[in-house]
Parts: sequence; C-alpha cells; structure tokens
Amino acid sequence: MKLLKKLLCAVICIMTVLCCLSANADAAVLIKNMRLGNQTDGARIVLDMDKSVNYRVFLLNDPKRVVVDLADAEIKALQTKFSNQVVSQTRVGRMSGNDKRIVMELSRPATIKKAFIIAPQSGQGWRLVIDLVMATNQQFAGKIGNRYAMTNDTKFAPKEEKSSGGWFGFSSSDSKADANAKINRKRIVVLDPGHGGKDPGAIGAYGKTYEKNITLAMGRELKQILQKKGYIVYLTRDRDIFIPLRQRIKIAQKYRADLFMSLHADSAQNRSATGLSVYTLSDTASDKEAAALAERENKADIIGGIDLGGNTKEVNDILISLSQTDTRNKSSKYATYLVQEMAKSVKVLKNTHRFAGFAVLKAPDVPAVLLEMGYLSNRTEEANLKTQSYRKKLGEAAARAIDRYFKDPEIASN
Ligand SMILES: [Zn+2]
Repeated sequence: MKLLKKLLCAVICIMTVLCCLSANADAAVLIKNMRLGNQTDGARIVLDMDKSVNYRVFLLNDPKRVVVDLADAEIKALQTKFSNQVVSQTRVGRMSGNDKRIVMELSRPATIKKAFIIAPQSGQGWRLVIDLVMATNQQFAGKIGNRYAMTNDTKFAPKEEKSSGGWFGFSSSDSKADANAKINRKRIVVLDPGHGGKDPGAIGAYGKTYEKNITLAMGRELKQILQKKGYIVYLTRDRDIFIPLRQRIKIAQKYRADLFMSLHADSAQNRSATGLSVYTLSDTASDKEAAALAERENKADIIGGIDLGGNTKEVNDILISLSQTDTRNKSSKYATYLVQEMAKSVKVLKNTHRFAGFAVLKAPDVPAVLLEMGYLSNRTEEANLKTQSYRKKLGEAAARAIDRYFKDPEIASN
C-alpha cells in the first residue's frame, strides 16, 4: 500500500513537471512580424505578437544599434532590410534559455523615446511599439547601455554573456567582456586618395607629376601597411576616377569609418617650399595659407560641376553635427599623433597641425584628417613622392600614429 502511494506520488510529480514544462513551452510569445516606419523626428518599430511580452530595449555603440531583448519568445523569420531613415538593418539572435534578441543597426544616432505594449484593438493583435528619435552623437552617447534600458519588467534581466564576444560578437555595454571586445574590435580606416579622373590636383613643376597619381599610390601603400596590422581599410577610390568631395564623405560613412584620412600633395609658387603638414576641420582657417589651400582642394567639386552652396537636408545635418566638439577633438588627437610620428621620419612644416574648412573633412561623425605629404612644386619632394620607398616611410609613420590613436584610452573606450 505504502509502495503504491509512493508510486502514485511519483507519477503525479512527473506529470506535474511535464505539465509545467509543456505549459512553459506554450507560454512562449510568438513574434509574428516586424514593421518599421519613418516618423518626422525618427522611426517607429512595431512587433506583432500573439500575446504580451516582457521586453527590454536599450542602446549599444560600435556600431550604433538598438537592442530589443524579449523574454521567452519565438520569432518567425523577420524581414532584415528596411528602407528606413534611422534603422539600416536588423538581425535576430538567441539568448540563454528561450529569450531572444533583435539587434537593429542604426544609420544615424537615435535614442529611445518610448517603448510600450498595445493590447489587441481595432482588428490588430498584441504589439510592442518602440519609438526612436533622431539625436546627436552626444545624446546617443549619454544613453548607451543597460542602465538606460526601457523595460516593462524589472525582473527581466537577460543573463550576462559568458563568452568574450557575447551574441554576434557583441556584448552589453556594462560587461567586462565588452571592454575587451571594444579593444579587440577591428578598427575601420578609410583612406581618401585626393583628386582623380578629370581633376589632376597639383601638377609637379619639373616632372609632370600629377597629384592624383601620387595620392593613389600613397593610399595603396598605406592600405597594405595597415591591413598587415589588422585594420580594416577601404579606399574611396582605387583607380583614376573623379569622386565629388561630398561623395567621399558618404563613402566614409557607408563603411562606418573609425578614422578618415584624406591624402594630398600641395604645390606652391615658391619652388623652394618643402615640408609635410596635417589639417583638421575648422570654420576659421589657422592662417591665409591654410585658407588658400582649402580653397584649392575644395575646387575639386567645382570641376565636377557640383554646387557646395546648396543647403540640402543632408548638408544641414552635417552643419548641425559640426557643432559637436567630439569629432573635432578626436580628429585633433589623431592629427597630433600624426605630426609627432611624421616628424620622426620626414621634414614637416612649422605649425605642422593647421586648421581650415576642407569640404572633404566634413563627415559628421567620423574623425577626419587631411595630410599634405609635401610640395610637388619642389624638385626634391616631387622626386621623393614618386619613389615607393619614400611613400613607405610616410605610410609607416602614419600607421604608427594610427596605432597610438586607437590605443589612446579615450579612443579605445568608445
Ligand atoms: Zn590635393
């Protein structure tokens, strides 16, 4: 009798456990669809579900993204590409247990305005709605990580990632793993060989050397050096073609450049003028020479028949972001390292780091520097720049500067 009771008990226990398990499996929320829409100030994301869900929404950086964590959820194959003004693409990943994560990469900085659940009404089912509002880089930076998460369940806290990379090689901003991931993350450098095609740039006085050819050769050389060091490197052009200045900025943004470097070689009336110089963006040029140089370099777009004066929305956006000091500070930091490393290898101009309004440096959130490698109007520098060994020397100095820049604690941490 006792044995029978025990057996019965065991059976009931097992059944209860099984029941609970199957009930849990049934309890998973089904995410049926994801919709994205533009709003005047941002974007709205809607997840269609068969019941309410416990969620957590927060921001991560590098690349800028919105993370949506969903407790106990099943996700149907969702659309991943959207033509949205804020979100560029999305992907889905698993977390521990049955929790899921949707990652949305942002094409521009945005913050989470609100997140809320809508119960079924007017023919529509359960929905999770997330509103994003366009923001400045600084505003975005101030809202990164779990601590700014919007959630409907304080107990809903996905487990900390155990592997160094976390999901998709990313991890939450607060974790130690993330600090490592950031440092180990491959940095993206976009090199911009100046001029090209119908725009030859400066022309060497003695050897009929075209600046566009020197800059391309330098770009290729530096690309090789940096790739050997583990950087991801793109050239804005790898052949003799004309690219408008604004397009060069777009290329840097498209590749999500951590650093943009435009390569040039100047010429001067005074044929004895020699030396290398480094420029960062400024509304006011550091001197007349710098202003004149910026004017010469900006002429590329006049050659291309493009009017820089027209204030499109994009240009306005750029002007807005120019008011942010962050990008300029980073550019200046890199310029400082670049000048120091170049000075070890070659002759540099006095006040080597100068400022001027170069159109090509106006990428809104990409630290950018313009390097004038020397004067093609000077016989010696023209000859030097034409030799591969000299360009290699310049390239190695630039690579040392790039290493120092990315190891700088301020840069390494974001
Ligand atoms: Zn140039």
